[in-house]
Amino acid sequence: MILVVNAGSSSIKVALFRADLTEVMAGQVSGIGGPLAHIDLGTDDKDIAAPDHGAALNAILQSFAAQGITTDQLTAVAHRVVHGGTSLVQPCRITDDVIAGIEAATPLAPLHNPNNLAGIRAIAALAPDMAQFASFGTAFHATNPDVATAYAIPDSDRAMGIRRYGFHGLSYAWIVTQFEDKLPDRLLAFHLGSGASLCAIHKGQSVATSMGYSPLDGLTMGTRSGAIDGMAVLRMADIHGAAEASRRLNKDSGLKGLGGANDMRLLLAADTPKAKFAVDHFCYWAARHAGSAIVAMGGVDAVAFTGGIGQNSAPIRDQIMSHLKFLGDVPVHVVKAVEERQIALDAVTLGAV
Ligand code: ADP
Repeated sequence: MILVVNAGSSSIKVALFRADLTEVMAGQVSGIGGPLAHIDLGTDDKDIAAPDHGAALNAILQSFAAQGITTDQLTAVAHRVVHGGTSLVQPCRITDDVIAGIEAATPLAPLHNPNNLAGIRAIAALAPDMAQFASFGTAFHATNPDVATAYAIPDSDRAMGIRRYGFHGLSYAWIVTQFEDKLPDRLLAFHLGSGASLCAIHKGQSVATSMGYSPLDGLTMGTRSGAIDGMAVLRMADIHGAAEASRRLNKDSGLKGLGGANDMRLLLAADTPKAKFAVDHFCYWAARHAGSAIVAMGGVDAVAFTGGIGQNSAPIRDQIMSHLKFLGDVPVHVVKAVEERQIALDAVTLGAV
């Protein structure tokens, strides 16, 4: 069996798969590092002591053992790693070089990569012989041409890694997997969850995506602004200081900033002008960015929606597609987002079992 690990700052989500990708069990430890750590996995649902990621993963392995799944039955552990930088552009087996690459990409994802590394190191300490694999949230977009990824800024700044990377790559890879041999040539894919992005997928490869250096760019999101002029960002940094400006743009903006709530269900139910404006902004900008992605592919043959909003909200899909009706009849698909399964699939493809 393959254990998929998604290590966040205070939580570790896990999913256990058989080699045929059927899910055996999934769950998480939350509250890591705090007084209220809790495990919810299979039949386990209890408070635990989890001062760090190592203790949390130990609790997860013990919980599996108590439910009849021993560490011996795990053939591999596969990690979700948010940022692979410019060097880690394929799923891979974790070696010292890969760990060094994840460390090198940490300045690009300072809030995420250290947690992913903590998960990798904790498994290495708990089960030193375990094969470990990594799938990177940025890697699917490594096929974007330079003209799409480069910001038109001075050489010396570009040399610092300031360019577009794109995110949600595991979700887009999963969409491609789901089409099997029916993949349309030019697919416009929307991942609409609390984070939202879109991707132009040409013959199965990403050629353009709406997120950039960070996940802030592109579509209006739950709490992120989406695209905003850099000078407006600098003005906000002048007013609030850089850290507070960053917090406002990432945590207090988007649907929350416009509509007062980051939950699309609440906004759709609210029926107030403010909530309606937030929803309209979300759909309008999703379609505006779609126009750019369609240009990058020279047209579009099909559209796919995924993520909590994309999967569940027909009214939002319809409103976005109504902005795109000039395209004529384009088939619209809905795909369930299961990034964990893509990570397990990557590990299986790399020979984990
Ligand atoms: P995350 O990016 O955190 O994984 P999800 O993909 O679960 O988030 O998406 C969360 C968003 O999906 C929330 O805005 C939530 O309101 C929205 N959502 C979930 N179900 C529905 C629904 N039936 N209609 C509209 N929005 C929904």
